[in-house]
Amino acid sequence: MKIAVSACLLGHNCKYNGGNNRSQKVLRFVEGHEVIPVCPEVTGGLPTPRIPVELRNGRAINANGEDVTDFFQAGTEKTMTRLAEEHIDLAVLQPRSPSCGCKQIYDGTFTKTLIDGKGMFAQALSEAHIPMMDETDIPE
Ligand code: SF4
Repeated sequence: MKIAVSACLLGHNCKYNGGNNRSQKVLRFVEGHEVIPVCPEVTGGLPTPRIPVELRNGRAINANGEDVTDFFQAGTEKTMTRLAEEHIDLAVLQPRSPSCGCKQIYDGTFTKTLIDGKGMFAQALSEAHIPMMDETDIPE
């Protein structure tokens, strides 16, 4: 299979705080498959580290109140174009991210409050009917 994976899960230091979410179980799960690392926020031109962002009424707003939706949209579009060319079979995503979260995201109040919903990139994957799962779907 050809699998797109949130790059932070693979150990890339592209997370907002400059770190990563390296997951041994994700690495084990994708072993033997063709892996395409993706980070829509960095692809969209945001720096690392960067100010954390949450989605509010469909906009990407950072903790300073700045609207960074254009970066999120650019990153999503570029990544989706690349993945369409790659004909991927599956995406494995980082939970709760305003880009990659595919089940729940933070509610935009920066109070650690989760709501049902998708990040901007996960929403685009869903609209393209690309199967997706997040790190929590993989058994230990
Ligand atoms: S945008 Fe996705 S891949 Fe990039 S750091 Fe955030 S969760 Fe990880």
